[in-house]
Amino acid sequence: MTSLAAGVTAGLRYHPYLGHPFYVSRGQGPYLYDLEGRRFVDLNMANGAALLGHGHPDVAEAVQAGLEAGILTASETEHHVRLAETLCRIVPCAERVRLASTGTEATLVAVRLARHATGRGKLLLFAGHYHGLAEPFLFRSADPLGEGAPQPASGGVPVTYANDVVIVPWNDAEAFDRALVRHRGEIAAVICEPVHYNAGCIPPQPGFLSYLRARTRDEGIVLIFDEVLSGFRMALGGAQQYFGVTPDLCTLAKAVANGLPLAVICGRTDLMEHLSPAGPVAHSGTYSGQLLSVLAAIATLRALQVPGLYEELNRRAERFYARFQEILDLSGVPARVQGLGARFGIYFGRREPVITWSQAMACDQSLHRRFVLGCIERGLFFHAYRGLPGHAGFSLAHTDEVLDHALTVIEDVARQLASQLED
Ligand code: PMP
Repeated sequence: MTSLAAGVTAGLRYHPYLGHPFYVSRGQGPYLYDLEGRRFVDLNMANGAALLGHGHPDVAEAVQAGLEAGILTASETEHHVRLAETLCRIVPCAERVRLASTGTEATLVAVRLARHATGRGKLLLFAGHYHGLAEPFLFRSADPLGEGAPQPASGGVPVTYANDVVIVPWNDAEAFDRALVRHRGEIAAVICEPVHYNAGCIPPQPGFLSYLRARTRDEGIVLIFDEVLSGFRMALGGAQQYFGVTPDLCTLAKAVANGLPLAVICGRTDLMEHLSPAGPVAHSGTYSGQLLSVLAAIATLRALQVPGLYEELNRRAERFYARFQEILDLSGVPARVQGLGARFGIYFGRREPVITWSQAMACDQSLHRRFVLGCIERGLFFHAYRGLPGHAGFSLAHTDEVLDHALTVIEDVARQLASQLED
């Protein structure tokens, strides 16, 4: 363990409440098994990657076919073309497709494309939206309204890069408009999580996404939806289909290959054709479109296209969130559950809707900590992120029965928390 830097292979895998990562031996469907073989209902689901459930048989079979084909890397196959054709059919903005290995790479390429196409340098971000751990995204706003000079949110990020970043609060059309006016002619791209799942779950206020769409179009700015988390989550075509707002470019990852590393950059042909070799915008990668991932994605998308699947997913989701909220309300624990499709957030210490990042950040971490630890003790796994609201979610392998079992655990923990609050 000491050979791992700070004890983990990835910073966000550290579980702040456990004081170490949650070590697992295997996963199956809605379950994770720890090193002693103890079973946990998983409400993290690989940070949202395993939407079909862990070890889905169709995905496993696809990976097996990839092994037999020679684990091809850095090779184009007919499967790559098939996957691109499927994505163009199901994702509204997708006219052309490129593949990468991680969400971070995909968002970087999307921003690079926008900068080239517009000849401008600045990037407008929304406070708290997560687009991966690359320099353009590693800034936070300096004041609570999000309109001060951005500050580096990580060591090693040059402060001068802050000149390229404008940060505004999510769901605040007026602040957005002020930023567009102040930086007129300088902003290459507006990038957002169309549902702010990295803050738990903060949907766009009614009309907010169409406002972003209209204003970016007026100002000649490229609109990027980062659907790494929201893709496939509540509709086959992601948040852009669900809310009926089509961006210029979009990035996908996580659920697209159900646990295999794959990311997608897709969008308008005239923008995508700036990519090399047709245009001057660099994008390639030894592992871009690794065959195992491509075959896993084809199998995943086939499974997600079953008629009625999203009606069922959203029915399960609404039932689960409503009962979860009811349990918290009846127990007297002050908390709000917000979910859309298969992902949700729990905000302790408040009952009113959460519509901004600062509201999400102001929630009661100590109650959250006690809740999460109580659930883990009873076999229900929630991940947590240090100092961040975090997000949780279920998969299609979570039947009503599995979710009902989770609710009985939640009820037990809520009762215990309520009795502690009374003391
Ligand atoms: N964008 C969003 C919205 C994400 O949630 C994430 C990962 N949580 C990323 C980008 C980065 O993806 P990756 O971890 O694959 O680099």
